[in-house]
Amino acid sequence: MVKILTYFIAIFLLFGCKNEEKSTSERKKISENATQKEENFGIVIHGGAGTILKENMSDSLKAAYKAKLKEAISVGYEILKNGGTSLDAVTQTINVMEDSPLFNAGKGAVFTHEGSNELDASIMDGATLNAGAVAGVKHIKNPIDLARDVMQNSEHVMLYGAGAEEFAKGLGYKMMDTSYFYTQNRYKSLQRVLEREKAQNEKKISFEDSYIKNSKFGTVGCAALDKHGNLAAGTSTGGMTNKRWNRIGDAPIIGAGTYANNATCAVSSTGWGEYFIRSVVAYDISALMEYKGMTLQEAAYEVIQKKVPALGGDGGIVAIDKDGNVAMEFNTAGMYRATMNSEGELVFKIYKEE
Ligand code: ASP
Repeated sequence: MVKILTYFIAIFLLFGCKNEEKSTSERKKISENATQKEENFGIVIHGGAGTILKENMSDSLKAAYKAKLKEAISVGYEILKNGGTSLDAVTQTINVMEDSPLFNAGKGAVFTHEGSNELDASIMDGATLNAGAVAGVKHIKNPIDLARDVMQNSEHVMLYGAGAEEFAKGLGYKMMDTSYFYTQNRYKSLQRVLEREKAQNEKKISFEDSYIKNSKFGTVGCAALDKHGNLAAGTSTGGMTNKRWNRIGDAPIIGAGTYANNATCAVSSTGWGEYFIRSVVAYDISALMEYKGMTLQEAAYEVIQKKVPALGGDGGIVAIDKDGNVAMEFNTAGMYRATMNSEGELVFKIYKEE
């Protein structure tokens, strides 16, 4: 009897240990995956697409763009690395570019036909599908912050002009003097475009040839994935030089200039806004992933290399998907862009290859 009992105890212990071993190794595997997932974060930014020609780019200007994009993306990278949210990474990365005269956003925004600066921005949270946008604001230093406040502190998605600024005042925003947004370069660009416009009127040059074909855009945008698996995207711009009649582009339009959805990807656009609105660029990329099962890269290619040019538009996007894959697609001569992998290695490019 004792022998039989000992036998059963031995069998029980043997299997018990085996199970214990198995569950320990399973647990290890699960926790390794969890750590891998936890460590999976990423960020990608753009500083605008357009006719950026090598022959017009000095080494010092290129270095200045590289330094500023590096500074901007490093801010977002640190936030993500320390377990912060993709929304914070997107907002604060864009702030750096808004504060730099190199980009067409915040300080450095392009001029309207009337010689003022009207700023547009939007942001979207892929976890909740909440979004916020402002358009045509004239006194807000960092429009992306106000877009985020619209998302988080109002019951609306998009506010425009004086009303948006009233909302900002209520939140304690400082109203900037319009002179803050003045930069000589952008003012000269407006004068050049106005001259071409005059020639167009006199010699009947087509609108496209005179106005758009030589455009550099210069909007800024960011898409990020945080360690919690949440995606976010944001875009900020002064729009297009010589815009008139309170023209609003794609940047503040959710689905065109900005889109984020944890199920697919986060996208920020830059380019000829009218075409990006009509192609619903950012949402279309997400929809191609969601409904057609395309990868991010396939979807970005489809929209930027086929749909937008088929209509006659140009520009590009940066995007990141829920697994951290990045896409930087454009159909113009160049697009200022950068990404940083989770080891903090920077990739900075302007043209197709470099
Ligand atoms: N998409 C912007 C707009 O049309 C311009 C740009 O990206 O630079 O307002």
